[in-house]
Parts: sequence; C-alpha cells; structure tokens
Amino acid sequence: MAYVISDACVSCGTCEPECPVGAISQGDTQYNIDPDKCIDCGTCAGVCPTGSISQG
Ligand code: SF4
Ligand code: SF4
Repeated sequence: MAYVISDACVSCGTCEPECPVGAISQGDTQYNIDPDKCIDCGTCAGVCPTGSISQG
C-alpha cells in the first residue's frame, strides 16, 4: 500500500523534494501522493511537521 496524506496537511511543501521517486505533488487544497509511483520508503512521513502522512 502506498503512503497517503491526510487532510491535516498544511501544504508546507517539506515532503515534496524528499520523495526519491517524485510521487508527491501539490494539489488544490493539500499535497497528494501518487499511489502508482510511491515505493513505500516512508521518508515523507518522517519529515512532515504535522504528522499528516501515514501508510495507507
Ligand atoms: S513513502 Fe517514499 S516513495 Fe512514497 S511518497 Fe513518501 S517519500 Fe515518496
Ligand atoms: S510535509 Fe506534511 S504538511 Fe507539509 S506538504 Fe507534506 S504532507 Fe503537507
């Protein structure tokens, strides 16, 4: 299962450059993870200041 970003995301952008496969992008209201690209490394979850990212 890919990691997912909850609605607690404040769009700070910290996670996006940390993803090794470019799976994170900015959406209209928050950042999103493309489940087809995510390799479940967990890096993004470790850097999110609001704890918004978890394994889906
Ligand atoms: S778990 Fe890893 S591959 Fe998946 S979105 Fe986060 S940083 Fe990218
Ligand atoms: S690091 Fe967390 S709060 Fe910041 S954009 Fe990513 S998911 Fe949202």
